[in-house]
Amino acid sequence: MYVLKGKSVFGGIAIGKIAFYIKSKEKIKRYKVDEPEEEAVRFENARQTALVQLEELYKKALAEVGEANAAIILVHQMMMEDLDYLDSIRNIILNQGVNAEYAVGVTGDNFSQMFSTMEDEYMKERAADVLDISNRIVRVLNKEDGRFILTEPVIIAADDLAPSETIQLDKNMVLSFITRQGSTNSHTAILARTMNIPAVIGIGEELKEEYDGKYAIIDGFTGSIYIEPEENVLKEMEVKKKQEEEKKVLLQKLRGQENVTIDGKKINIYANIGNSTDIGAVLKNDAGGIGLFRSEFLYLEKDTFPTEEEQFAIYKYAAESMAGKKVIIRTLDIGADKQAGYFDLPLEENPALGYRAIRICLTEKDIFKTQLRALYRASAFGNIAIMFPMITSLEEVKEIKEIIMEVKTELSETGIDFNNNLELGIMIETPAAVMISDMLAKEVDFFSIGTNDLTQYTLAIDRQNPKLDKFYNPHHTAILRMIQLTADNAHKNGKWIGICGELAGDLSLTETFLKMGIDELSVSPGLVLGLRNKVRESDLSKIKKNIN
Ligand code: PEP
Ligand code: MG
Repeated sequence: MYVLKGKSVFGGIAIGKIAFYIKSKEKIKRYKVDEPEEEAVRFENARQTALVQLEELYKKALAEVGEANAAIILVHQMMMEDLDYLDSIRNIILNQGVNAEYAVGVTGDNFSQMFSTMEDEYMKERAADVLDISNRIVRVLNKEDGRFILTEPVIIAADDLAPSETIQLDKNMVLSFITRQGSTNSHTAILARTMNIPAVIGIGEELKEEYDGKYAIIDGFTGSIYIEPEENVLKEMEVKKKQEEEKKVLLQKLRGQENVTIDGKKINIYANIGNSTDIGAVLKNDAGGIGLFRSEFLYLEKDTFPTEEEQFAIYKYAAESMAGKKVIIRTLDIGADKQAGYFDLPLEENPALGYRAIRICLTEKDIFKTQLRALYRASAFGNIAIMFPMITSLEEVKEIKEIIMEVKTELSETGIDFNNNLELGIMIETPAAVMISDMLAKEVDFFSIGTNDLTQYTLAIDRQNPKLDKFYNPHHTAILRMIQLTADNAHKNGKWIGICGELAGDLSLTETFLKMGIDELSVSPGLVLGLRNKVRESDLSKIKKNIN
């Protein structure tokens, strides 16, 4: 038995086989080929297939997102025809007598490095594109579509997992995540919580690829991993798992009960989701609504922009399934750690402070309007509210409202039904938004505090950096004071306020939030009933509010 240790991001016990997830790039190996000429032909065939793929992608993008946004695909096509790029690949294959994947991978890396050191901004941005086209050709050579196919429920082990990779895994087949790297505040960690599965990260090099296929136990409570467990450990963990399941059954008894404290204070408990497939868990755990639908995960699951129709179908399904309960859908919050290749976002030195979320939407208005049209159309089928991420100014909110007016006018002119009075809210996740929350409250219907980013931006700590986990303190007095200030400003203006960051599920703060007057807490579906239990056991008359 080997025992490994990491940082827990979600409790629970998983028992099963390990499947090691290896990214395409990591799989590229260099080997000698007998017939380099034939290998060059194999490369040429793969390049032609990749060009056909791009052609199809271009047609789709042209129809769905317009010429300006589709133009990047033309750039990719041109790069695939670039003589210097092609010469480099052919030279490596023919002169070194090696495989095409290796030649493409090396050339992609070299060209990307060369572009990233150029002065010209336009050329700098091509660094990501040349990697993208090289990966596409390698995927064709490997005869893979870049996805990880699972045929039985397994424990996923990986070096690290990007949100776009995590979201593409078949949830029914994932017992647990364990990774060498990763930060507890990353979106991959959040996804593990949403999926309600044990997850342990930051295990380091001890997590070896040779464990692939081995039987293991993951204790998400302690962050321990037992590879080929001894009989007594297996027995102990089976008991722990059973106790956990019994606790869950007990919590199920709280379904249908109110979220009310002993002294009569009520609060709404909603759930956070990343996809319509999470709605089953929302209903099972009896959440009062959906407090945060991270719509960007719809974009991360795909290889190209989701169309208005695709989005409409998903939002409509969410609205109908929740049968009149509130469904707060956050508009696209892509960028930083949430990357989808087809957006062709530039490589940035400080991505968390960069081109992301509402900044992309207010720049690439076609993308934004497609989503807003889908949301407004779906609003005719239930209780949809919309909220906007990463707000820092009144001007942004005013511009959003103007775009919404355009969308509503277009829909009315074509006779399409929508809810003209749907609630519009903003996420409070920058210190700037907190400081002007009195002014913002006059412009919107509600606030939802994103404590994950608010902590990152207030404490100047990159939430992605695992080294900083111990400094990332959402209990910091600065954060608690900001929450109180924002709540007061919302209420002074007759608006309601929720918290949808991970802090909402922190039971050590539930009473503080109740005392502050927070109206709604939105947490992973699996945490809803535990939070209800905590609220029902609280007696605020016996607690002094203390945020200093
Ligand atoms: C947050 O920042 O707290 C939040 C809820 O949004 P995300 O974690 O998706 O950035
Ligand atoms: Mg955020």
